[in-house]
Amino acid sequence: MATLVRAPWLVPIVGPPVADGGVLLDDRGRILAAGPFSDVAAHPALRQWGRRASAWREVDGVLMPALVNAHTHLELAWLAGRVGPGGPMPAWIERLLFVRERHPVPDTVMRRAAERLLADLHGQGVAAVLDIGNRSAASALDPPPGPSGKRLYRLFLHELLGAEPPPTPPEAPVTAHAPYSCGPRLLTWAKKESQRQGVPFSIHLAESAEEVAFLRHGSGPFADFFRRRGLVPPSRPGQNPVAYLDRLGVLDASTVCVHVVHATSDDLALLARRGGKVVLCPGSNRFIGVGRPDVAGMLAAGLLPALGTDSPASNERISLWREMRLLAEDHPDLAPADILKMATLAGAETLALDGWGKIAAGATGPLIVVRPGGRQRKNKNTPAAFPQWDALRRAAGQEIEAFLVQHGEHCEVEWLL
Ligand SMILES: [Zn+2]
Repeated sequence: MATLVRAPWLVPIVGPPVADGGVLLDDRGRILAAGPFSDVAAHPALRQWGRRASAWREVDGVLMPALVNAHTHLELAWLAGRVGPGGPMPAWIERLLFVRERHPVPDTVMRRAAERLLADLHGQGVAAVLDIGNRSAASALDPPPGPSGKRLYRLFLHELLGAEPPPTPPEAPVTAHAPYSCGPRLLTWAKKESQRQGVPFSIHLAESAEEVAFLRHGSGPFADFFRRRGLVPPSRPGQNPVAYLDRLGVLDASTVCVHVVHATSDDLALLARRGGKVVLCPGSNRFIGVGRPDVAGMLAAGLLPALGTDSPASNERISLWREMRLLAEDHPDLAPADILKMATLAGAETLALDGWGKIAAGATGPLIVVRPGGRQRKNKNTPAAFPQWDALRRAAGQEIEAFLVQHGEHCEVEWLL
């Protein structure tokens, strides 16, 4: 049976918002047509099937694709509020390790916190997460059903550190932590493994100035960090992080570079030439104080970054809506339409979720309805100048996009179908 949905606003991501929009879905949730309601309602398939073969639904809000969180560490959910903000990066890592080593928690505690966070993300309209962890128990996490009864899609990658590949590979698909914490042999081995398994190869890259200094010159706070912990640094290539990955042959279209705060225009051009993916984590970058990425330079180079929340250990709050708002605050010239695309379509592409993150004929990803509403309106965090739905009905398309970026975190989210 087909379903025809009508919404006051449709935000398709692959085109401008449509007032009084419609979407026609087949019985498996695949979009047959989308656009102005009058056009969609005249779709020949509806006439062919007749009234009995189709359902009708009217939703009151902004109909858009569900969000994709392209970088988090669910296994660190229990650390929320336990590691203070501020850098430099190696000092922050030391504080994280201190808490983890001094107060180890059993798998049950880790799992409970992670599953609560998953349920919370689902409630915010997140349909998929790219989850990185290095505890074996984290791979067995089971996303609980969200409000819609559906489960959130979670791709878990087991993150490795050190100089050499592990003698016994983990059960889950592997990935590498960062170029300063992984040796070249581990990096190339992990990349080959992820290619063999057909999953993205995610790596923290060019996150801090200290990382760049260490990779280029073998000095600075990261060198001190390794010395203090009695570790032999796994690599000192004398190159920028992006160029180093490229020299190792691990930079390609399935490589997901997370953060990319300290990259030159040459680095960005190289990343774009290789088809590499970028994930921005504005909340985490603020929390640790590593700086702001050159987002305009990325877009100019042809890179469309995805968005991630990183973990509750390095972020005040885990909300992809909040990440959109922070990105807009840090980069006032960015178009809200681009920010929404980062949180949906770019994330779907990062996770290789074909047909997700957009509303267009042939798309198959989950859809959500967003609107300012009852419960959230009373929330103490809700800004005073929070636009009401009645005003938004009469707004222009660009105002709707700006509204979602600015206020999405205080809206109600409903899953469609
Ligand atoms: Zn991370």
